[in-house]
Amino acid sequence: MIKRRFYIETYGCQMNIYDSGVISEILTGQGHEPADCAAEADLILINTCSVRDRAERKVLTRLSEISATKKGRPDLLLGVVGCMAQRLGKKLTETWMKIDLVVGPDSYDTLGGIITGLTVERDPVVETTQDSECMYAHRPKTFDSVSAFVTIMRGCDNFCSYCIVPYVRGRERSRPLGDIIKEIKHLVELGVKEATLLGQNVNSYRDGKTGFAGLLEAVDAVEGLERIRFTTSHPKDLAPGVIERIRDLPGVCEHLHLPLQSGSDRILASMNRGYSYGDYRRIVNLARSAIPGIAITTDIMVGFPGETRSDHEATLRAMEEIAFESAFMFKYSAREGTHAAGLTDDVEEAEKVARLGQVIELENSIIDTKKQALLGKEVEILVEGESRRESGFLIGRTRKNWLAKLPQKGVSKGEVVVAEVTGVTRWMISCDGSVRKAGA
Ligand code: SF4
Repeated sequence: MIKRRFYIETYGCQMNIYDSGVISEILTGQGHEPADCAAEADLILINTCSVRDRAERKVLTRLSEISATKKGRPDLLLGVVGCMAQRLGKKLTETWMKIDLVVGPDSYDTLGGIITGLTVERDPVVETTQDSECMYAHRPKTFDSVSAFVTIMRGCDNFCSYCIVPYVRGRERSRPLGDIIKEIKHLVELGVKEATLLGQNVNSYRDGKTGFAGLLEAVDAVEGLERIRFTTSHPKDLAPGVIERIRDLPGVCEHLHLPLQSGSDRILASMNRGYSYGDYRRIVNLARSAIPGIAITTDIMVGFPGETRSDHEATLRAMEEIAFESAFMFKYSAREGTHAAGLTDDVEEAEKVARLGQVIELENSIIDTKKQALLGKEVEILVEGESRRESGFLIGRTRKNWLAKLPQKGVSKGEVVVAEVTGVTRWMISCDGSVRKAGA
């Protein structure tokens, strides 16, 4: 059997970052070795995202770059995994690009066998079988970060009208509680201090009688784990019990990522989101009254089919009213096969760009105000490691997920410290003053 040196390039969400770890474990388990960079590898896998047209175009550009280098490197194999592999399947091998394998998110267990049997002369292999039972566990032998993603469920049953995820990642299923806890304990033994629980809709997690609130309790009880984060929460499923656990469990960070998408009830209905803006605001009020200062972050999409100027203004008003700590902001792009792709994409591109510019400008001003208010306050930081940009400085995150920078003196990676905020920029807070160990 030919042992390969593999390199995985990951695009898209945290779920893909987790899956790349899973693929790496599968391949090393079969005797293949990870390479430090694409140039040193003889197997390059691109883990892809289909959520937006732009994400797919970026991947296609990268694939065509690598494919072009295959002329001079006849031993190099190129594979596509992830959501684009599932969505496009065989079509990817029918382009001029020289792609050797295409494997969807439910078929990573087959990768070892596929690669073993694959030679450069062989026809491409396409494996995109969907398996509604498919679950993976990530058990790395070493882990060099203090923060790890842990997938608690896969797939999605919500069918938001613009979204391709239920088609490429399949129906929603939850991982057994015991398996999740085992994985987290294993990661803690490898030095992990923070676990981010991942799912398309974590609030609908269920294993027997245990729902998401119960899972948070079980994870919080893992000894040595300092922090717990989770994403994504769907506003229609966020139960008051989860808000209570954020308030009461010491490890759960005071941060809720709650995608709003639009401030217009008409557009929310057309998106099939299952809540109105009033419902959304009630949840935010509940969270903020239970946990004063909780960070609320969101996703905003502009230019959905039929979005009028007044719908867009409703979104701007909602953003002002809620004052999100941060937001991912996007222009709508039709995804073939979704319900919304059948609607007339009637907001002109220039208007979409203008609307996106307005939401970004508004959000930036909200972030600037929130950051200024942090000056002189103390924040708790989990130190993630040395700053790549500034020697002598460490980088970490506050409980509310602000990126923070602090001097290296007497502090090490993995420690939780309390520091005073001495400076702020839009994307970073600086803590150049007093720093002490948390609990000291
Ligand atoms: S909740 Fe909606 S937007 Fe999120 S993955 Fe599921 S279908 Fe897509």
